[in-house]
Amino acid sequence: MSLKNKGKCVIFSAPSGAGKTTIVHHLLKQNIGLEFSVSACSREPRPGETDGRDYHFLGIDKFKENIANNEFVEWEEVYTNNFYGTLKAEMERIWSEGKVVVFDVDVIGGLNLKKQFQDDAFALFVQPPSYEELEKRLRGRSTETEEKINQRMEKARKELAFASEFDTVLINDNLEEACNKAKSLVTDFLTQ
Ligand code: ADP
Ligand code: 5GP
Repeated sequence: MSLKNKGKCVIFSAPSGAGKTTIVHHLLKQNIGLEFSVSACSREPRPGETDGRDYHFLGIDKFKENIANNEFVEWEEVYTNNFYGTLKAEMERIWSEGKVVVFDVDVIGGLNLKKQFQDDAFALFVQPPSYEELEKRLRGRSTETEEKINQRMEKARKELAFASEFDTVLINDNLEEACNKAKSLVTDFLTQ
């Protein structure tokens, strides 16, 4: 891979509903030189989501064209017919501004990025306090159909098994404590 201006990155992965987006949003507000990597995806925007802010909503044809043109650092079919990936251009842009790239990606994508960026990457696994609480949060968010919730819960069982492969496991039970811990872990990594 030939990314220019190579800098550091922080990777947040978790089963869907564990709270990683909530924690990442909190961290991004702390003014510690982080910038969110906006992923590309093939799905349609949900109500309230904006193109270029939440995702680059490419649609399936354009997404596949970008795969063929080798424009992704990593990409994955996270759910059947739902593709997600990080564009090389997105990382280049953030690093060229002298900032640290922050990822919110699924578990396999997170491990893939860690493998590529090694010591320049800090990979956190956000763990829910229990499987039952994960389901409760996913339902409470009210963004998925029953079928999608079941799909995500099934995937979560497999994903929880990968926690020990990350640099650190961040338990998200009390949100405020998890946010404070995330900030202190990331600050330590950036000052190493
Ligand atoms: P993810 O990005 O991992 O899919 P979200 O950040 O969207 O998860 O969180 C899923 C839901 O759980 C949201 O409704 C969020 O407000 C809620 N949530 C996040 N962290 C906690 C927590 N510590 N306690 C209770 N609810 C939480
Ligand atoms: P959602 O459809 O709920 O926004 O996201 C579905 C899943 O895709 C989440 O687990 C999210 O972390 C993951 N995801 C988002 N962007 C990327 C990416 O660029 N690469 C990978 N591998 N997963 C991603």
